Amino acid sequence: MKNAKYQLNNEDVVVIIGSGAGGGTLGNALAQKGIDVVCLEAGPRLTLADIENNDQKMFEKLTWLDERISEGDLIPNFPLWTCKTTGGTTVHWTAACPRLEEFETKTRSVYGEIENTNLADWPFAYKELQQHYKDAEKLLGVTGTHGVPMLPANNNYKVMEAGAKKIGYKDTDTNHMAINPEARDGRPGCLELGFCSAGCAVGAKWSTLYTEVPRAEATGHYELRPQSMVTRIKMGANNRVTGVEYIDADGKLREQKARLVCVAGNAVETTCLLLNSSTSEFSNGLANSSDQVGRNYMRHVSVPTLAVMPGEVHMYKGAQIAGVVRDEIRNDPSRGFVGGFQFHTLPFSPDVLVNLTMNGKWGREVTDIMKDYRNMAGLMAFGEDLADPDNRISLHPTKKDRNGLPVPIVRYKLHKNSLAMAKYAQQKSEDLYRSLGATKTVSGGLMPSTHNMGVARMGIDPKTSVTNPWGQTHDIDNLFVSDGSLFPSAGSANPTLTIIALVLRQAKYIGSAVVKGEP
Ligand SMILES: Cc1cc2nc3c(=O)[nH]c(=O)nc-3n(C[C@H](O)[C@H](O)[C@H](O)COP(=O)(O)OP(=O)(O)OC[C@H]3O[C@@H](n4cnc5c(N)ncnc54)[C@H](O)[C@@H]3O)c2cc1C
Ligand code: SF4
Repeated sequence: MKNAKYQLNNEDVVVIIGSGAGGGTLGNALAQKGIDVVCLEAGPRLTLADIENNDQKMFEKLTWLDERISEGDLIPNFPLWTCKTTGGTTVHWTAACPRLEEFETKTRSVYGEIENTNLADWPFAYKELQQHYKDAEKLLGVTGTHGVPMLPANNNYKVMEAGAKKIGYKDTDTNHMAINPEARDGRPGCLELGFCSAGCAVGAKWSTLYTEVPRAEATGHYELRPQSMVTRIKMGANNRVTGVEYIDADGKLREQKARLVCVAGNAVETTCLLLNSSTSEFSNGLANSSDQVGRNYMRHVSVPTLAVMPGEVHMYKGAQIAGVVRDEIRNDPSRGFVGGFQFHTLPFSPDVLVNLTMNGKWGREVTDIMKDYRNMAGLMAFGEDLADPDNRISLHPTKKDRNGLPVPIVRYKLHKNSLAMAKYAQQKSEDLYRSLGATKTVSGGLMPSTHNMGVARMGIDPKTSVTNPWGQTHDIDNLFVSDGSLFPSAGSANPTLTIIALVLRQAKYIGSAVVKGEP
């Protein structure tokens, strides 16, 4: 089937902004239903041949490097790590696909009232989410589901597993991963080379770049326009969106008409698009009558730990985060905090190790540690971050980027619950490695967030949420949010499987509405 090509004045297309986990998956799901989709993607379209086994080079090729200002407990000017490329951050991601636990979708009911938080339950039953998890796991070929085998254990995992068992944990394995252990779905099996976050040059790791996007194109109902940076969502009469303005690959300002617009830019860009599109009627930004757009920004409480082991580990070999310990995913306030966390294997390349974990500092401690690189093992504890309305993304009042758009400010302060969780997780991580005779452990340090959630939360009440339970904004019927911005709570699970479950659910809702001539 030939790729579709739509006119700028075609008012019948669904416009999706972004081709990552949310936008890429939604686009294919709609195109498979015969709905015409134009996907506007700010980044270029790479092929597998552009992917190199080189972390630094791929970071430069893939990462969204436009200025973002940090405020609070964040790395200066690099608060979070997302991508500007076709496939979005699924080109960089490491593909761990755990589900949220039921209690993590009911934080308001289970944790109660907590100072300086804005906790909310998810607006539909967990049972329903589970159904969509099954669809998402099938789509991605997640290991340990639908008959897909688990990945083999690499050395870094074997060390973590042995230490975990020694200190009494039981629930550990090579995790549910969107990485083929063997050839499946037109893609090869994993070669265990360990460059997952540089992009996977063989395509064993699921990414919308080479799964959902080409499949959508093959339907003849989907047009991808790479290097197309959307700058504004346009409003018309009767409270309806009419299309979007974007800067195309030649630097020209264009306007694409639309029957419906779905925003899937990942937390910062989704917020910027909604706030930058204000009109005299929506002076606070689109879909923002609740004043919740940009608020409740959540990441994960992240505690990296490195240990120097008595023997060689070569932690960089194998699928990078194929290893999990789940025993701490529970709500047990006797530990001194609400919510839970999980441990994942996390190997660090030498440059990342110095830049991130040591926050760029050189000194005796760093050099002493680096000489033991071969003997190092590494993990990261990911924990639940509580929604706080003052952790927010907003627009700088005067500073503009090269497109003349306000530079975003990401403000994030660790809640005292997160600090208590981090301290506990750090101690447990160190105990785990020390139980095996680690001669040195280093924990903590600021990390840029790779998991971004919550800035356009879904809910029932338009006064306290931005969208309804299907991601349709309360204020504007034909404007949807289609990424992790929808999460009312973060849980401790890496977010992408849940993003995909939500957009598959959304695609059914949009599909039936389009058939009925709505919205
Ligand atoms: C190193 C790394 C490792 C990770 N590992 C994991 C993991 O193991 N498990 C997990 O669950 N998650 C992981 N993540 C997070 C995961 O990648 C994201 O949760 C997921 O990709 C988010 O999907 P999204 O659709 O919201 O955004 P993205 O995938 O970031 O896609 C957004 C897209 O929108 C485009 N865009 C934004 N604004 C505009 C605009 N104005 N106009 C046009 N296009 C625009 C961007 O260019 C981008 O392509 C990881 C992330 C990183 C960085
Ligand atoms: S370890 Fe597997 S998933 Fe990761 S880059 Fe290598 S082949 Fe791809």
